Amino acid sequence: MYYNENTIVYLNGEWLPSAQANVSLYNQTMHYGNGIFEGIRAYSTNNGVKIFKPKEHYERMLKSAALMHIKTDYTVEQLTYLSYELLEKNGMTDAYIRPLFYLDPNMSLVPVDKTNLFLCAWEWGRYLGDKLLRIKTSSYQRPNPKSCHVEAKTVGHYINSILATTEAKQNGFDEALMLDAAGFAAEGPGANFFFEKDGVLYTCPLGNILPGITRNTVIDLAKQNGIIIHEKFFTIEEVKTADSAFFTGTAAEIAGIGSLDDYIFPMEWNNSLGKKLSALYQEEVRK
Ligand code: PMP
Repeated sequence: MYYNENTIVYLNGEWLPSAQANVSLYNQTMHYGNGIFEGIRAYSTNNGVKIFKPKEHYERMLKSAALMHIKTDYTVEQLTYLSYELLEKNGMTDAYIRPLFYLDPNMSLVPVDKTNLFLCAWEWGRYLGDKLLRIKTSSYQRPNPKSCHVEAKTVGHYINSILATTEAKQNGFDEALMLDAAGFAAEGPGANFFFEKDGVLYTCPLGNILPGITRNTVIDLAKQNGIIIHEKFFTIEEVKTADSAFFTGTAAEIAGIGSLDDYIFPMEWNNSLGKKLSALYQEEVRK
């Protein structure tokens, strides 16, 4: 459960018990999907609780809002401050923080004058679990960048993710791998994708995917540790010649992948670059 009777949330300048935070059922976000959210993690460190990369998350949130004509006066600094306050009010250290911009009632397909900010947090284990994943090539593509701002973390984009994950699960898999509109492998429904071949890491360039903050962290960690990494387009057939693969995301952290369709990645996860980067990532978030 995401809340109980003691949970405190933030809604438009007020701190409230979760059950008292209400919205109008006429809000535009619910009817048409225009809203923005983030997913951020906080970790307990030797120096107390630390939110990992709040600046990057809130810059992405404000940029997403601007792309979607969602107006807000909140700054990155205010949003970061509120997030620490949220953790403190709920006595949380290791937590997942979910900020949401949702819009006021308006049934026309136009920008809405008033934006609401909701902030909540809950304790959440790794989103995709700890076991190696069995993933399936999805029949659903990522949204076409010519039909929306695919780089924005817009509420409505997640119907695409729900369809892909549901299809994968209904077919007995753990998660999906989606192609972009041109047919190249792009990302998972809630995580970016990497594979390893002959000691080199590959991930696709930006353009058809959510620009993941974990993706950036992993690219930086790879470079700092002498791991060669290439951003390039690749097909599913190419992935099926790889040694190993993994997803990256704030909620999932680094999730190893055991197989794609009927292809089993041959390298032991413990010997892979993904495993090495996963250990480095755990150190980085707790620094
Ligand atoms: N792609 C999608 C579609 C996502 O929803 C997420 C999760 N936010 C990611 C990638 C990973 O992004 P991040 O590392 O910033 O959490």
